[in-house]
Amino acid sequence: MTEPALDFVIAALEKIRETNDHVPRASRIVLARLQSIPAVAVSLRETSAPLPGQRLEPATNKAELLEPIRERVCACTKCAHLACSRTQTVFGVGNPDADLMFIGEAPGVDEDRQGEPFVGRAGQLLTRILKAMNFTREDVYIANILKCRPDMPPGSFGNRAPTPTEMQTCRPYLVEQINVIEPKVLVALGAVAVEGLLGMRGTMRELRGRWHAYNNIPLMITYHPAYLLRNQAPSEKRKVWEDMLQVLERLQQPITDRQRSYFL
Ligand code: URA
Repeated sequence: MTEPALDFVIAALEKIRETNDHVPRASRIVLARLQSIPAVAVSLRETSAPLPGQRLEPATNKAELLEPIRERVCACTKCAHLACSRTQTVFGVGNPDADLMFIGEAPGVDEDRQGEPFVGRAGQLLTRILKAMNFTREDVYIANILKCRPDMPPGSFGNRAPTPTEMQTCRPYLVEQINVIEPKVLVALGAVAVEGLLGMRGTMRELRGRWHAYNNIPLMITYHPAYLLRNQAPSEKRKVWEDMLQVLERLQQPITDRQRSYFL
């Protein structure tokens, strides 16, 4: 919501409060969403009359702000076919206060089973990349464009890429996650993640290795770890590592000589 629109909502709520003999009511989820927007949080704090049965203190930490989003994701049936086929939704994992957030495509079979992004083979490689950067999975935040595993025909193996419609449908949840986490740097893993986030198609050759932006947040685009599993050439691994060195520099993290000369 833009700031003038928010002002309008607040003014309308205040008018209802002043002119009606009943105070305006808002569901807990709507209230949490309003409270997650800084300007509104301040305004709600300044509101003198509490809503009946509701506490007005704004949610103070990002973990709390993520919870109502997680609940909506858990109950989501916007893609009926995925809601039917999933074992569970896969919301995201890591530190809600992270400076660095990774964005992948969609859960695969392992993630669908465990309810956590990037836990399969590609995920294990991502965890090793993080380790080489001197991070753990708990230091960063990891999420996908899609929160459900793309369904597969019965009896078939492997994973399929999300469709553009599935990505457009699910993207608002990721946008909300990013808005709460406010990372200093985003990393998009692979061309599908880029398409889901920016709505832009391109080859990784054109996209990777340089800074882009999402909502004024610096965005580094690099290969998906699954690509590195398919293509074990040291030159490709080095490219990803060079992208991660740029990320470390942007985050003003110390980089050792050993890290600079490292090949994943
Ligand atoms: N690939 C992704 O893009 N995301 C996951 O969570 C797992 C594999």
